[in-house]
Amino acid sequence: MTSFNSDFTMTIGGKAVAGASSFAVLNPANEQEIAQAPDCSAEQLDQAVAAARAAFPAWSATPIEKRREALLAIAGVLAANMDELKRLLTSEQGKNHEDAIFDVMGGAMWCQAGSTLELPVHVVEDTPERRGETRRVPLGVVGAIAPWNFPVLLAMFKVAPGLLAGNTMVLKPSPFTPLTTLKIGELLRGVLPDGVLNIVTGGDALGPLMTSHPGIDKITFTGSTATGRKVMASASATLKRVTLELGGNDAAIVMPDVDVEAVAEQLFWAAFKNTGQICIATKRMYVHKDIYEPLKTALVAYAKTVKMGDGAEQGTQMGPIQNHQQYKRVLDLIADAKAKGYDFLMGGETSTVPGYFVPITIIDNPPEDSRIVQEEQFGPVLPLLKFDNVDDAVARANASDYGLGASVWSADVDKALAIGSRLQAGTVWINETQYITPLGVFGGHKQSGLGAEGAMEGLMEYTNAQTIYVKKAQPVAA
Ligand code: NAD
Repeated sequence: MTSFNSDFTMTIGGKAVAGASSFAVLNPANEQEIAQAPDCSAEQLDQAVAAARAAFPAWSATPIEKRREALLAIAGVLAANMDELKRLLTSEQGKNHEDAIFDVMGGAMWCQAGSTLELPVHVVEDTPERRGETRRVPLGVVGAIAPWNFPVLLAMFKVAPGLLAGNTMVLKPSPFTPLTTLKIGELLRGVLPDGVLNIVTGGDALGPLMTSHPGIDKITFTGSTATGRKVMASASATLKRVTLELGGNDAAIVMPDVDVEAVAEQLFWAAFKNTGQICIATKRMYVHKDIYEPLKTALVAYAKTVKMGDGAEQGTQMGPIQNHQQYKRVLDLIADAKAKGYDFLMGGETSTVPGYFVPITIIDNPPEDSRIVQEEQFGPVLPLLKFDNVDDAVARANASDYGLGASVWSADVDKALAIGSRLQAGTVWINETQYITPLGVFGGHKQSGLGAEGAMEGLMEYTNAQTIYVKKAQPVAA
C-alpha cells in the first residue's frame, strides 16, 4: 500500500494551514486510505479570500513581466518535483505514472506557454482632441474549482491566465484528488508572493461556499454539466463572472476508407485513455457499415492486449475508475445495457479484485436512444454504432445537448474536413483526437460550457475591459 506520511496542509496567505477537520483520501486501485486532507471551514475560506484580496493591489500592480516570471517559476517547481508529484497523483487518481507525468508536465507547459500571452490595448480613437483606448484589467479574486480527472493540468488551465492577468486566486481541487494540489501549494510557498495563490480543500459544502462568496469576483469551473448549472445559478446572486468547462459526449465518425488495422489502436485510445475519464474522450463511435465488422474485430483484438491495474505498477496502461461515486455510475450504465439485452463485444462482467476497476467494455450497436449513447459515461465503456450515410452520422453526432469535441477519421482529409465543419463542437479533430495546445481556444458549445480556456480568448476571461478617454485640449479658462 502506498501511503504518504507528510501532513497535508492548505496554503492561505502563503502559510501552511491545517483544516478545521479532515477527510480521508483513498487510493482507487485498492480503496485504502492514503492520507487525510484538510477540510476547510467557512471561516478558513473567508481567510483565504481575505488573503487573496489583501494580495490583489500589489499583484495587479506588479509589472506583467514579473507575473510572467512567476508563471515560469511555477512551471519550474512542477518540473523539479515531478517524481514526487507523479507518485502522489498516481496514488490518489489511479492513472499510471506515464499519464501522471503528462498531467503534471502538461500543467508546467500550460504555465510556460501561457506566460507568453500579451494583454492587448486597442486604440479606439487618436485625434487632436482625444485619445481613447480599451485595455484589459484584472477582475480581483478568482475562485477556481477543478475536477478529479486531470487535477494538475486542469488547475493550471486556470492558474496561468488568472495570475498573468493580475488576479489573485483561491483554488479548490476535487475532494477525490486533493493531495497533489495541496503539495503544489506547499512547494509554491515563498515562490509566489503570499496570498496570490491560496489552496483550500474540503468536502461537498466548500464549492457552494465559494460560488456564493461575496469576496470572490469570478468562478472558473471545470466539472460536470449538472454541477456547472448549480455554479452558474449560485454565482448569479453576486453577478460573478463565470467560465464553465463542462461535460461532453464526443462523437467520432469513422469513414469506410480508413486503414482499419492502422487506425484501430488510435481509436481505442481515443475512447479509453485515462480509463475513459476525459472530457474530450470519444464517447460514441459511429463506424461506416462497410468497415464495421473488421473494425470491431480489430478494436476488440487490441483491447485484449491492454493491461489494466494499479497505475503504480510497471506496464499498467489503464487504471481504475477514480472514485466510488463514478464507479457506481458506470456500473449502472452497464447494468442498464445488459437489462435491455444489448450485445457486448467485450466486458460487462464485474471485476473481482479490490479497487474501482471496470473491465474494458464495448457494446455492439446499441439503439441511438439508449442511455449508453445519450449520456456521458466517463469510464471504460464504448458504444460502437453503425452508420450508412454521412448525413445520418452527422445528424446523430449533433443530436446532443453536449458540444465539447468531435472527430472524423478518413483517408480523404478534405472530405473529412468538410464533414468536421458540420459538427457542433468546440473542438473538431481530423484523424486524431484530444490534441490541445495552450495557444488554441478550448471550450464547449451548447451545454458543454460557457466561455473558453486557452489562447487570448481564455486570457480575456480573467479580465474586464476598461476604456479610457483622454481629452487632449486643455479646458479654456473662464
Ligand atoms: P463535478 O462536477 O462532480 O465536480 C467538479 C468540482 O466541482 C469538484 O471540485 C467538486 O468538489 C466541485 N463541486 C461539486 N458540487 C459543487 C457545487 N454545488 N458548487 C461548486 N462546486 C461544486 O465533476 P467531476 O466528477 O469532478 O468531473 C467530471 C466531469 O467534468 C465530467 O462531466 C467531465 O466531462 C467534466 N470535465 C470537463 C472538462 C472540460 O474542460 N470541459 C474537463 C475535465 C472534466
